Amino acid sequence: MLNNQGRSTQPAEAHGAARETFTGNRALDIEESLIFDQNRFDTTGVDVDEPAPFSDRLGGMSRASELELPGLSEPEMVRHYVRLSRKNYSIDTGMFPLGSCTMKHNPRLNEKMARLPGFGDVHPLQPQSTVQGALMLMQELSRWLIELTNMSAVALSPKAGAHGELAGMMAIKAAIASRGEDQTRKTVLVPDSAHGTNPATAALIGFDVQSVPAGEDGLVHPAAVKEKLGPHVAAIMLTNPNTCGLFEREIVEIAAAVHEAGGYFYCDGANFNAIVGIARPGDLGVDAMHINLHKTFSTPHGGGGPGSGPVVLSERLAAFAPLPFLAKDGEGLKLVEERDGNQAFGRMTAFQGQMGMYVRALSYILSHGSDGLRQASQDAVLNANYVRACLSDIFSQPFGDRACMHEVLFDETWLKGTHVSTLDFAKALIDEGFHPMTVYFPLVVKGAMLIEPTESESRASLDLFVMAMRDLAFRALRGDEERFAKAPRFSPRARLDETRAARNPVLKWKKREAWAEAAE
Ligand SMILES: *Cc1c(COP(=O)(O)O)cnc(C)c1O
Repeated sequence: MLNNQGRSTQPAEAHGAARETFTGNRALDIEESLIFDQNRFDTTGVDVDEPAPFSDRLGGMSRASELELPGLSEPEMVRHYVRLSRKNYSIDTGMFPLGSCTMKHNPRLNEKMARLPGFGDVHPLQPQSTVQGALMLMQELSRWLIELTNMSAVALSPKAGAHGELAGMMAIKAAIASRGEDQTRKTVLVPDSAHGTNPATAALIGFDVQSVPAGEDGLVHPAAVKEKLGPHVAAIMLTNPNTCGLFEREIVEIAAAVHEAGGYFYCDGANFNAIVGIARPGDLGVDAMHINLHKTFSTPHGGGGPGSGPVVLSERLAAFAPLPFLAKDGEGLKLVEERDGNQAFGRMTAFQGQMGMYVRALSYILSHGSDGLRQASQDAVLNANYVRACLSDIFSQPFGDRACMHEVLFDETWLKGTHVSTLDFAKALIDEGFHPMTVYFPLVVKGAMLIEPTESESRASLDLFVMAMRDLAFRALRGDEERFAKAPRFSPRARLDETRAARNPVLKWKKREAWAEAAE
């Protein structure tokens, strides 16, 4: 059955809440159905002339039935998408304490710069002589990234952190092949606290992954690494600060040991935002590191992109950078698309990468300056430690109560005996108007809650978050199980049946009638 706006009047439980109004709407929270379910295939928002007679060249294969694209008038279409957009929780609507994701404010100035016609309207197939300004911007961004990391080269083109990891590891693979050791060096060491993309990247390009355990203190120790080193090891992939929010203090010794054994040191740079302007990966012995422009340098992300994951390379790996790269061309610049005696593995992507993200990142860098970038890192660390200090009397920390970097990690020990799980707690946070923190990651910590407030949050907003966390914690400890078992109570959809969704995914839209029949 469809209501007066073409929306389905499915039973209340399908919407996760009792149907309290005729329309299913709750004041400004409008129950919006899929555009296909609005079922108006005979309506259109555009006026197109009938095409002139033409002879079809489909050889009798033209479709016999209607295409059945959904039809809406222009105002209906505008409403559909605006209503959908209002269901989106974003960094522009509230605090987003997702650990590891660095959801910080994206300054509007950067958006304005990215829309300048000279950057926003250029086409990748334009002659390079007509896009010299854009190439200069890429050159300037490269200079900053090399300066901030103290590395030798940068490949801008990778389109996400994981893609940058792939580029860096492919450079390592090419370097090893150039030494004639590609048949022997086939192992990549990855600490067990690593982000899942690390082992996935290594495995994807044919390396065997061997895990390195962290110590009781959450850190990787040189002894544990040395035990696994040998002529079969191609590289280690380490994150610093690591995914537990701790700085790997013995990184210099680990890097030296890996180098001595003939391997390379890949650093996952997704957490670079904690140390920009304070420590330089090049000084720590890193050979390759991706930089998530969409995390550290505040270009928008979430919802699938676009991200941008330039990878910086040490002198030992610079010759193995992917194509294209920038070079001087007389007075100007050019993108070099081929190289002689090519040792590298080719290109990561068509064209040159995410131009719009380069503009935003450089705009962010220039508007902060080097002192401002350092302060952003310091404030990110300060904010995380403020949250830690305000919560550590209740929430348990897996590695003891000590200073963290830009994110603070709690575990589930404090919830013991309450019937409330980390997941329940995160869901209850939604009812309080916050995006949940990262849960159950890193995997090495049971019931992990990883909180990264970023430097964007004011003292007032951190205080509200802390008070909401404390209030929920007291409820959990007092045995208010109802509150958690049913959370979130106020979101348009409550807990989804994730098992069923995974086992029996509905990947194709079907007409309503077919749904109704299926339900009978
Ligand atoms: C985000 C992240 C990645 C992957 O970056 P994407 O841009 O999402 O591909 C890798 N490692 C860590 C630690 C991260 O936080």
